Amino acid sequence: MVWQIRDLLISRGIPCFVKNEYAIGAMGDLSPFDCWPEVWLTDDEWMPKARQILEDWQNQQQGSAWYCRQCGEENGAGFELCWQCDSERPD
Ligand SMILES: [Zn+2]
Repeated sequence: MVWQIRDLLISRGIPCFVKNEYAIGAMGDLSPFDCWPEVWLTDDEWMPKARQILEDWQNQQQGSAWYCRQCGEENGAGFELCWQCDSERPD
């Protein structure tokens, strides 16, 4: 999830990185959405754009997931490329 978001933001030209990737579970009973700040922007000025992208992305997640033909990975409906191997989404 965190890596998908990082890849999504980078693909839109927003510089960011994953922080505390090994600290999962230490955040208590937050919802998955509340945990996404584990993806950190390198500059706060990107925040409004990043929020918009993530909102769009979450809306797109309402669609159905798809499975990569190359590696079999499950990908969210909002992704055009497999997050694991970069293969294109099948039609
Ligand atoms: Zn794949």
